[in-house]
Amino acid sequence: KVPVYGVPGTNRERTFLAVKPDGVQRGLVGDIIARFEKRGYKLVGLKMVWPTMEMAQTHYKDLSKKPFFPSLCQFFSSGPIICMCWEGKDIIKQGRQMLGETQPLASKPGSIRGDYSIDLGRNICHGSDSPEAAAHELEMWFPEGVNDWGKTVDSWVYES
Ligand code: UDP
Ligand code: MG
Repeated sequence: KVPVYGVPGTNRERTFLAVKPDGVQRGLVGDIIARFEKRGYKLVGLKMVWPTMEMAQTHYKDLSKKPFFPSLCQFFSSGPIICMCWEGKDIIKQGRQMLGETQPLASKPGSIRGDYSIDLGRNICHGSDSPEAAAHELEMWFPEGVNDWGKTVDSWVYES
C-alpha cells in the first residue's frame, strides 16, 4: 500500500492540488481536472470541502507572518474548494508548472493561472511546492486516505 503522500521520485509521486473558491465559483473545476487527466496523470483523491478559518490558517501556516495572511485565509474559507490528490512521475514540479506562477502577470498563457487569472489574490488554484509540502498537505486534506488504483493505460504513458 502506498502512503497517502506517495513515493516522491517515482511514478507513484503524489501532490495536493486544489481549486480555490474563485475557481469553483467561476466554473473551472472540470477544465482543471481535464488538464491533468489528459496529460496522463492519475487522480487518486477528489472531494469538495468548505474550509473553516482554522483549516485555512493551518493550510497556509508558513505564510502566517505575511501581511496578506488574514485576507488570504478569509478568501480561502469563503466557499468550497476542490481537493485533489494527483499521482504520477514528477507531478509535484509538473503540477506547479501547469498552475503557472504565483503572480498571474508572470504566468504564461497555457498555464491555468496564465489562462484564467488576473489578480494575485484570485489565482484560481493551489499546488504543493515540494515533497515535504505535499506530504503535509495530503495528510491534512486526506486523513481518510486516497485510492491506490491501477490505471490500465499507464504503459502508453510511461516507458517503464
Ligand atoms: N498571495 C497574496 N498576496 C501575496 C502573495 C500571495 O494574496 O503577496 C496569495 C496568492 O493567492 C497565493 C497564495 O497567497 O497563491 C499563497 O502564496 P504562495 O507564495 O504560497 O503562492 P503559491 O504557492 O500559491 O503559488
Ligand atoms: Mg505556496
